[in-house]
Amino acid sequence: MTTVSDPENEAATENQAATTSVRRAVEADTIRMCIPKSLDPLGEAAARAAYAALAAPDGAPVPLEAAGPKSSWWPAGQRLRVRFLGGDAGVQARIRAIAEEWMRYVNIVLDFGNDPHAEIRIAFDTNDGSWSYVGTDNLGIGQGSATMNYGWLTPTTAEWEYRRVVLHEFGHALGLSHEHQSPVAGIPWDKAACYTYYGNTQGWSHAEVDQQVLNKMNAAQTNYTAWDRDSIMEYAVDDQLTIGTFSVDWNQELSGVDRQFVSDRYPRRPRNTGSAHTAVVARESQHLDVFWIAPDGSVRSAWWHEGGQWSAPFVLSPAGSAAPGAITAVARESDHLDVFWVGPDGSVRSAWWHEGKPWSAPFAIAPAGSADPGAVAAVARETGHLDVFWVTQHGQLGSTWWHEGGAWAAPFSLGAEFSVKPGAVAAVARLNNHLDVFWVTQRGELASTWWHEGGAWAAPFTLSAARSVEPGSLSAVARLSSHLDVFWISPDGDVRSVWWHEAGQWSAPFSIGPTRSARCPGHVWVSARMTNHLDLFWVGRDGSVQSAWWHDGQPWSQPFTLVGGNVAEQRSLSAVPRLSNHLDVFYAGPDGSCDSVWWHEGPGWSAAFGIAGGGSVAL
Ligand SMILES: [Zn+2]
Repeated sequence: MTTVSDPENEAATENQAATTSVRRAVEADTIRMCIPKSLDPLGEAAARAAYAALAAPDGAPVPLEAAGPKSSWWPAGQRLRVRFLGGDAGVQARIRAIAEEWMRYVNIVLDFGNDPHAEIRIAFDTNDGSWSYVGTDNLGIGQGSATMNYGWLTPTTAEWEYRRVVLHEFGHALGLSHEHQSPVAGIPWDKAACYTYYGNTQGWSHAEVDQQVLNKMNAAQTNYTAWDRDSIMEYAVDDQLTIGTFSVDWNQELSGVDRQFVSDRYPRRPRNTGSAHTAVVARESQHLDVFWIAPDGSVRSAWWHEGGQWSAPFVLSPAGSAAPGAITAVARESDHLDVFWVGPDGSVRSAWWHEGKPWSAPFAIAPAGSADPGAVAAVARETGHLDVFWVTQHGQLGSTWWHEGGAWAAPFSLGAEFSVKPGAVAAVARLNNHLDVFWVTQRGELASTWWHEGGAWAAPFTLSAARSVEPGSLSAVARLSSHLDVFWISPDGDVRSVWWHEAGQWSAPFSIGPTRSARCPGHVWVSARMTNHLDLFWVGRDGSVQSAWWHDGQPWSQPFTLVGGNVAEQRSLSAVPRLSNHLDVFYAGPDGSCDSVWWHEGPGWSAAFGIAGGGSVAL
C-alpha cells in the first residue's frame, strides 16, 4: 500500500510509465539539460598539480603532494585560453560574443584563439548534449579532450537559445555550480524518470544520478544564501523529469545575484590602497572588517555583517606589539584577511585570518630595524600573492612578498638611501602582474616606481615639484587596469591629484576644491566604487570630514562637509566601497574614538556613529 505523501513510493509505482515516456523522449531528443561533469580521481590529481603549477613562480615544477587542496575557483586575474575543436565559424563567433559578456563582471580574461595549451576546449558533439567542467577541474582533462560541449547549437539556432546555453556553460568554466543543487532549492524531481534518463543518456548508476543531480550540496560548499531561481546557473529542468507540472527553463541572462557573486569572487580592483591609522576592508559585499592600533600598542579589530550590529572590538595582537601609526589590511579572498603594521622595534608584522579558524599569532615579515612607523601598504595582485611596502629606517622604500605555498621573501629596498620621507606609501596592482608604488621624497615630491612581471623595478621618477606634497597624505587607486589616480595634501592644505592613462604621460598636478581647505599635515583617501567614478575623503581645516566626487565626463563636484565640527583626527581616514552603490567611511575622533558614516544610493549619507569609544585608537 502506498501513501500519497511519499513521493519515493509514488515514483516506484509509476516507475514503468515514467521509464517508457522518458525513453521515448530520449529517442526523440526532446529533453535538453546541461549534464554535470566531475573528475575521476586521476583527473583530480592532475587538476591539483596543474593548479599548483599555475600559481608557482617561474613555472617551477610542483610535486603532486605539495599541490594542496583543490579549489574550483581560478585565481582572480587569470587568463583563460579558449580554443574551438572544430565547429562552424559562424557558430564559433556567436559563442565567443556571448561568452565574453562574463568579462564585464569578472577579473578573468577569456582569450579566444588557437593555443594548443588552451585551458578551455570546446567541441560540438551532437550526441553528447551540452556540458562543461567546473572551474579549475578543467585542468584535469587531457590536452586532446574537450572540456566543454555544445550538442545542439547550429547556424540556425535562435539567439535566445545560444544565450541561455553559452552563458550557463561558461558560468561552469568560471567555477559556478548548478543552482539547482543549492541547499535551499526545491525541485520535485521524479527520481525514477531521472534514473532512466541519465542511465540511458550517460550510463550513470542510481548512485551517480543521486550525486550529480538529486542530492543537494552541503551548505558549506555553496556561496548562495538563497535559491536564485533567476540564476543563469539554475538548471533547466524538464517537466518530464519532475513530479506533477514543474519545469524551469534555461534562464537567458545573468541575474543580479550572478553578477554580484562573480564580481566578489573575481574582484577587478585592488581592495585597498595606501595606509592610515584605521584600515577597513570589505572581504564580501555584506561584510566589513576594521583594524586599528590602540594607545597601549595592541592591534584591534571589529566587524560587521549585514543584518547585525557591529561586533565588540577585540585584540588581534597584544599590548606593546605595534607602534602608533599606519595599519593596512587586505582580503585576498572573500574568506581570508591579512593585516600588516610596524612593530615598536621597527619590524614589519602581520597576522591573518581564514574562515573557520581563529586569528593567527602575529609574526614578523621583516626583522627589527626595518621600518619607520607611519607607512605600510599591502596589495594582493593575485589571490595567492601579497606585496607589502614600507619606508625603511634608511629612507628607502622597503618591500617583501609572499606567494602561496612559500615563505615570505627576504625584504629588499628600492631607491637611494635617505631619498624617501617617512610617513606615507601607497601601492596599487592595476593588473595581476603589475605594481605601481607611490611615496614622498625628502624634497617633498610625489615619486613613483613600477614593476611588471618578468622585469626589474623601474628607476624611481617624480610626478610633482619639490615641497608640493605633505608626507603622510597619499592615496592611489586604479579604477581601470589602464588608469591610475593619485591624491595628496599639499603643505599649504590643497587637495591635489595627478593621473595616468595607458600609453600616455602623467598629467600635471591639479587642485581639487578650494585652496587651504585641508588640515595639514593631513590625510586623503580615494575610493573607486565604479570604473568611472571616484569618491574622495579628507580631513578639513576645522577637523570636519570633507568629501568630493568625480564622475566620468563631469568636472569634480564641489567639496562638501560629510561630518561637521572638530570630529576627525588628521591621519585617520579610510573608506571602502563594498558595493558599487555603497560607501563606508571610517575615521578616528580627536579623543581616539573610531567612528563611521555610510552612503547608499538613494537614501544618501547616514548620520555618524561610533564603533569604538574614546581612547581606542592611538593618535
Ligand atoms: Zn550546467
